[in-house]
Amino acid sequence: MKYDLLIVGGGPAGLTAAIHARARNKSALVISNEPTASPLCRAPRMANYPGLPGVTGLELVERLVAQARDMGAELKIGRALSVLPMGGSVMVSVENDAVEGSAVILAPGVSRAAPLRGERELLGQGVSYCATCDGMFYRGKDVVCAGDAPNFEEEVEFLRSIGCRVAVKRLAGLEILGEGRVSGVREPSGETAPCDGVFLLRASIAPAQLAPGLELEGGYIKVDERMATSLPGVYAAGDCTGQPLQLARAVGQGQTAAHFAIEAMG
Ligand SMILES: Cc1cc2nc3c(=O)[nH]c(=O)nc-3n(C[C@H](O)[C@H](O)[C@H](O)COP(=O)(O)OP(=O)(O)OC[C@H]3O[C@@H](n4cnc5c(N)ncnc54)[C@H](O)[C@@H]3O)c2cc1C
Repeated sequence: MKYDLLIVGGGPAGLTAAIHARARNKSALVISNEPTASPLCRAPRMANYPGLPGVTGLELVERLVAQARDMGAELKIGRALSVLPMGGSVMVSVENDAVEGSAVILAPGVSRAAPLRGERELLGQGVSYCATCDGMFYRGKDVVCAGDAPNFEEEVEFLRSIGCRVAVKRLAGLEILGEGRVSGVREPSGETAPCDGVFLLRASIAPAQLAPGLELEGGYIKVDERMATSLPGVYAAGDCTGQPLQLARAVGQGQTAAHFAIEAMG
């Protein structure tokens, strides 16, 4: 099925975009890590959100999810790994699956993780973001896993189950070694470990890795007044587009992005 709108991120920006799409009778699929596991859901009280003073982060997200679902938006739990505009369509890979839409709205919040040394250079040459997608290439081999993805343990277990020898490391300060192909990792202590593959299983993926060629400004996704990015059919909303990192801005941008993405469909 081809959706009218794909939305990456089930936070306030993405869920508002989905609500708006459904109000305009467009199909909408929200691809997200479990929405109630986001850091916002640990906020005990939101003082400045208009109309709902004192609402907790969890309550706000639960209400948004329920509203989006009640209006007919679909929710696919999983990590979006790549976004590929294809002229009239946009493909999003979600772990080992792929979905298609007429347009996509990126609303993944902020990615606080800086890339590791060696990560960009060795991406696709031993560095992977998805065990269930690429694990089979490493059967019987040594791999390193690092990250904070909600399904981290599951991904590690999957690799073990297909015969990979898995070492789990902390992301912070890890360096990936190799020339043209991963050969190992170096930990902050200076200790090195040889391996054939490195699985970086983060909860969020930096925008430039998610959608190669996406123009950034100050580390945030660059958008125009319609929330359009530099890539065709790709819009962005919420914290991923810059300061202030606040709820009211995120929901406003989610609505705006959906409005103009739908308008562009004619
Ligand atoms: C503890 C706390 C308290 C806060 N208090 C306030 C407050 O009082 N007032 C206020 O205005 N703002 C507050 N904020 C800020 C506010 O939460 C953010 O501005 C707002 O949540 C941004 O919404 P968003 O939809 O852009 O991103 P987020 O809320 O970050 O949602 C993004 C969602 O996308 C998911 N995601 C990311 N990458 C991927 C991927 N590749 N695939 C699938 N899913 C992905 C994330 O897991 C997350 O669920 C607070 C934030 C925190 C953490």
